[in-house]
Amino acid sequence: MMARDWNAMAEAEFRTILRDFIAENCPSELRNVRLRMPPDQTMPWYRALWNAGLIAPGWPSELGGMALTPERHLVYIDEMEAAGTPWLHDSGVRNLGPALIAFGTETQKAEYLPKIAAGEQIWCQGYSEPGAGSDLASLRCAGQIDGTRLTINGQKIWTTSAHHATHCFCLVRTTSDGPKQHGITFVLVDMQTLGITVRPIRNLGGEDDFCEVFFDDVTISTDCILGKRDDGWQVARSLLGFERIWAGSPRRSMKALGELNAVIDAVGLGDDGLWQDRLVQAEFDTLDGQDLYRSFADLVSTEGHVGTEVSALKIFSTESFQKIAEWTLEAAGQGGVVDVTPTPGKPAPTFTWFESRAPAIFSGANEIHRNILARRVLGLGLETAK
Ligand SMILES: Cc1cc2nc3c(=O)[nH]c(=O)nc-3n(C[C@H](O)[C@H](O)[C@H](O)COP(=O)(O)OP(=O)(O)OC[C@H]3O[C@@H](n4cnc5c(N)ncnc54)[C@H](O)[C@@H]3O)c2cc1C
Repeated sequence: MMARDWNAMAEAEFRTILRDFIAENCPSELRNVRLRMPPDQTMPWYRALWNAGLIAPGWPSELGGMALTPERHLVYIDEMEAAGTPWLHDSGVRNLGPALIAFGTETQKAEYLPKIAAGEQIWCQGYSEPGAGSDLASLRCAGQIDGTRLTINGQKIWTTSAHHATHCFCLVRTTSDGPKQHGITFVLVDMQTLGITVRPIRNLGGEDDFCEVFFDDVTISTDCILGKRDDGWQVARSLLGFERIWAGSPRRSMKALGELNAVIDAVGLGDDGLWQDRLVQAEFDTLDGQDLYRSFADLVSTEGHVGTEVSALKIFSTESFQKIAEWTLEAAGQGGVVDVTPTPGKPAPTFTWFESRAPAIFSGANEIHRNILARRVLGLGLETAK
């Protein structure tokens, strides 16, 4: 596969390449489906993206990525959203990939990155535990090290896609000495390892998208430690930084705005002053969200990391999405609550409203991000957990 310089070509050409590719390779039954479909349905599309060098917009080109500038990345999102391409099981590409690139040994990079990009491995994130969500550093899932073996015992919860995953990147406590952020180790676990039990949890929207995961004497090699033993907090925080950019992506608001427009047209509110105002507000917020996203994504490409200010992006973007979803439901009136299950290509205001609840919770709840901004950015000296 020839690496192309996607940033050098004109935007119109880039858009045409993407549009033509989507038209040829993404079948209509995968388009505009609001639920995340199981991997056996979406993997052919994932692999088509990989074969064309289009799966990893943020990775460097020498690792099979597109090395897109933030500006181009937004165009990429825009085209994928406009065509209604499906939500993929891509936590490996999106979250783990950048952490592997930053902290992995050459052996780990060679072992995992090509398989992640090619869709041979599906990764889930084992951070949260009962009693350790916002206060993540309180996690208790134990990792006992004995020579070159590491044995895991404990439980994770809210693990998205664990029931489909082949692998889990996971935080375990390898020592309780010192501050609670110390003694956490970041491990890469094959989900086929003996002793792992996965139990799906049904969410508000009726989907089984996240799970409980139980580890019962799960023994892996210490070669599966990413970064230094007992210093996994550093890896986890770097990964959360990238994840928060993703969580702050304007993608959801862009999609919800399209739905708000469609509903306002459908119910004939287009000439109503209140709804015109709201539409303009929603458009401005979405544009502001795009600008904010662009500036944080720019920091990643120039400096390789983002600071705690990224919390502002996460809050703004997720709360804009919630506001647009609320307005869409209100505009739809009674009709909005009839179709809870989304039909491809049609607005589903209730489903979108359900959907808009979760981003304010995952990747750190927004209250926690407000604490982070208050303490670490504004220096207000408050207690914060994550
Ligand atoms: C859709 C979805 C997918 C998820 N996927 C994953 C995943 O793949 N892997 C994973 O590891 N986790 C995942 N999570 C879990 C997520 O990271 C946690 O839900 C989140 O960190 C909050 O933790 P908690 O649920 O334990 O809530 P708690 O920490 O118990 O918080 C409950 C409430 O109290 C508030 N609160 C807590 N502490 C403070 C404080 N100090 N100051 C002010 N308010 C506070 C919170 O903001 C929240 O509103 C997912 C969650 C959701 C909703």
